[in-house]
Amino acid sequence: LAEGQGVPPSWLHSAGPIVFRPASGRTQVLVPSAVPDPRDLGTAAAAAAPTGRFAARTAGMTASEIRALFAVASRPEVVSLAGGMPNLAALPLDALASEVGELVAAEGQTALQYGSAQGTPALREQICEVMRLEGINADPSDVVVTVGSQMALDLITRIYCDPGDVVLAEGPSYVGALGSFAAYQARVVHIEMDAHGLVPSLLRSALESLARQGITPKFLYTIPNFHNPAGVTLAVERRPEILEICASYGVAVVEDNPYGLLGFSGTIYPALRSLDRDVVYLGSFSKTFASGLRVGWALVPPAVRDRLVLAAESATLCPPTFNQMIVSRYLQTQDWQSQIKTFTEAYRERRDAMLSALETYLPPGCSWNVPDGGFYVWLTVPEGVDTKAMLPRAVTARVAYASGTGFYADGYGSRQLRLSFCYPTPERITEGVRRLAGVLTAELDV
Ligand code: PMP
Repeated sequence: LAEGQGVPPSWLHSAGPIVFRPASGRTQVLVPSAVPDPRDLGTAAAAAAPTGRFAARTAGMTASEIRALFAVASRPEVVSLAGGMPNLAALPLDALASEVGELVAAEGQTALQYGSAQGTPALREQICEVMRLEGINADPSDVVVTVGSQMALDLITRIYCDPGDVVLAEGPSYVGALGSFAAYQARVVHIEMDAHGLVPSLLRSALESLARQGITPKFLYTIPNFHNPAGVTLAVERRPEILEICASYGVAVVEDNPYGLLGFSGTIYPALRSLDRDVVYLGSFSKTFASGLRVGWALVPPAVRDRLVLAAESATLCPPTFNQMIVSRYLQTQDWQSQIKTFTEAYRERRDAMLSALETYLPPGCSWNVPDGGFYVWLTVPEGVDTKAMLPRAVTARVAYASGTGFYADGYGSRQLRLSFCYPTPERITEGVRRLAGVLTAELDV
């Protein structure tokens, strides 16, 4: 974002997107065209809703492409590299079954009852133990248990953002977070990453440009470890710098870290929250234990906590007591850290299968990163291929992926796609990449 190429003051109300060119050269759209101007929302919503009764905020809600294709992509003959479903094959189901039985027998009256809106005290204590692995020293009274970290994202956006507010997010960013931002009519400004994660100089220049327009973003939303979808990890030496830049512009930091314990080399990076107690930290048991239990959490500064609990209460009254107590028992009775190691060994094997298939089969002109943890490879395809347009042809060829445009609020990403290696077997991954290569080669031949 070079000097003099800032955003005109009128941008918040312009009809179309405003484009600028950041230092790295790619054109970036500061105002996502996908989020309608708040002043037009009444009309847009009325037009979109046959009854004309839907709230204006629904105009920004869109179906994720992956979900739209879910029915076809989940057929057994299709190799799905699209979803980020954790691989639960290694879970000790027999041990869990007896834990669940014991929970009902011994503590059924409590487990099946309403509980605290903030979550059970026992689980909040254990969550603090889990976060200690990332260098976080937290008080259980600052933890709010949520229905997956997705709900924490929704609630954080709800309490921070009015329609038209700006949030910063990496480009690309997690599709579920973009969905929450759109649902509250927040506008997203993407900050590019390189192989070492979010680029501090680009963050600073975007903030400078916005400040010149009198705009202070509400927060920076960042996924520092084993990024979804980009697969990269924020360099440790960049972490204090990112925090310092945000603090100097009065911008809060929301750190979303569901993959932090899923590094393939066993390295656990220090959380941003371990460096700054004002960071809002989001965690989850979805990837380290069981996504179907829908247990996640937010660790927030005391000043944010009360509002967050009120928002949580109005959304769900309380998170599911039964599921929280299952997680508590699991953490107490099972060797959950060894279980995470078992998970990551399976993921590393799958990552290796994917990388070697990409090397073997993909046509020239493709590039991708080598993730050191997590679930995802981010692939850039040759000029002329549109990954969104190609998706139905890929599904016909019995392979599914997530096209890049879903991970940007501004329409960018048509030459990118995300491949998940978490769920299919290594053999299926190899076959899926082989099919994808065939589709790509056919696109290039047209
Ligand atoms: N954040 C990121 C970056 C994710 O990848 C996901 C799940 N794919 C979530 C949040 C939501 O996770 P959950 O609601 O299952 O905790």
